[in-house]
Amino acid sequence: MNRPEHPISATETGRPRSFTSNRGLCLEEGLIFEIGRPNVTGVDIDEPAPFETRLGALEREEPIGLPGLSEPEAMRHYVRLSQKNYSIDAGIYPLGSCTMKHNPRLNEAMARLPGFGDIHPLQPESTVAGALELISELSRWLMEMTGMPAVAMSPKAGAHGEACGMMAIKAAIAARGEAATRRIVLVPESAHGTNPASAALVGFATRTVPCGADGRVDLAALKGLLGPDVAAIMLTNPNTCGLLESDIVAIAEAMHEAGAYFYCDGANFNAIVGKTRPGDLGVDAMHINLHKTFSTPHGGGGPGAGPVVLSARLAPFAPVPFVQEGENGLRLVEHVEADSRSFGRMAAFHGQMGMFVRALSYMMSHGADGLRQASEDAVLSANYIRASLSDLMTQPFGDQPCMHEVLFDDAWLKPTGLSTLDFAKAMIDEGYHPMTIYFPLVAHGAMLIEPTESESKASLDLFIATLRDLAFSALDGELDRFVGAPHDAPRRRLDETRAARNPVLKWTAPAQEG
Ligand SMILES: *Cc1c(COP(=O)(O)O)cnc(C)c1O
Repeated sequence: MNRPEHPISATETGRPRSFTSNRGLCLEEGLIFEIGRPNVTGVDIDEPAPFETRLGALEREEPIGLPGLSEPEAMRHYVRLSQKNYSIDAGIYPLGSCTMKHNPRLNEAMARLPGFGDIHPLQPESTVAGALELISELSRWLMEMTGMPAVAMSPKAGAHGEACGMMAIKAAIAARGEAATRRIVLVPESAHGTNPASAALVGFATRTVPCGADGRVDLAALKGLLGPDVAAIMLTNPNTCGLLESDIVAIAEAMHEAGAYFYCDGANFNAIVGKTRPGDLGVDAMHINLHKTFSTPHGGGGPGAGPVVLSARLAPFAPVPFVQEGENGLRLVEHVEADSRSFGRMAAFHGQMGMFVRALSYMMSHGADGLRQASEDAVLSANYIRASLSDLMTQPFGDQPCMHEVLFDDAWLKPTGLSTLDFAKAMIDEGYHPMTIYFPLVAHGAMLIEPTESESKASLDLFIATLRDLAFSALDGELDRFVGAPHDAPRRRLDETRAARNPVLKWTAPAQEG
């Protein structure tokens, strides 16, 4: 018998071919438009009885081409898609700066209570007294923990909170009659990209403050930049190198002496909750990422919330809406009232109710001692990783204690010819989501690891052992583990820049053959 010819000849390099593109039990899944057929449906509906349309000439005449699936096909499609999401519920998610910690299920149960989960932002105020009380209680916790007299709850994310704080600062400067002269915002080299973006959005120009050899703001250089044209500094503490800005009080004093404000990016508040209060350090405004510090799902997993605490100097300029104690209990102040100096409104509704419920649930279930311990454990975990890797991997500012995240650079990789990207991609083949890479920009080939307090010691030990194994491999010249990695993921290396710059968001039917 003549053997028929194998119809497929393509082979991939470096690994056995897969006929289905499935790998192990990691299943390939097409777009719903590719697998769906317009004439298929998961339900059996009778043909409608003849009726007269009232749409006039607006009636659609062509089928709209929605993809149809049977129920089992729909089930598999969405289950397979859900399995493509990496999540904190699946494993350690060591993204520095992002604080991917466990989201306690208690918070989820609280957020789904019908009195919180089912309310509508346009409901009459008299029917949402409990929600207003929750917002007020959460505000009280936030002011207590930060040592600040006021908080604006409406910003919807960290970056939105930055814009809110900068708008309050702009309004305060305008009220002093200095709007035309104070136009500069100072931003340290290590800042998150959202800081200069927020300052620019609000209409300020930015100047970069260099950092010293210890990875902290160079105080002398900062003082050299101060003058009557400076509106504020936007500084993260602990900073994005995972280091505590130890000159913080001197920085605050220098800013205030120069007539400028101190905006603190509070995204890293999770390292210092219960240890120190930004209000005591001279901060004028600081956003808190509820979705980082006080858990709540984020990234692909849900929305965020970025309340901004304000000093007495900035409190009068806070945006509406806000909750206020009135004659008959709490009321929601929706409009800028006649005698108010509020800068106005920056969001349609009050805030992210679901996030508020989750954050307060997290705070109350931890208690003051538990919140402090979470900060301590987050810092301990990061230092455990630092101490366990510092004999192999280099740190840009030397081996010194860190806060809640540890920053390595690529100096140690130099002799191997491999890059930070190669190292990070090889982690995927080991079943680990990579750490944050190439941020902050002050470190060459940065690798920023934030384990958070919610990983067990066993989990940290396996993570450390894996990174050590990879590091030895790299230094021993076992380059195939790295070049072209990931080898075992459903896709090889993607052109991430092109994907971000030219996203293909619309499916086009392939041209019919014949
Ligand atoms: C996450 C983060 C932000 C931005 O917060 P979003 O909620 O993502 O808008 C700003 N600064 C720092 C340092 C951050 O880590």
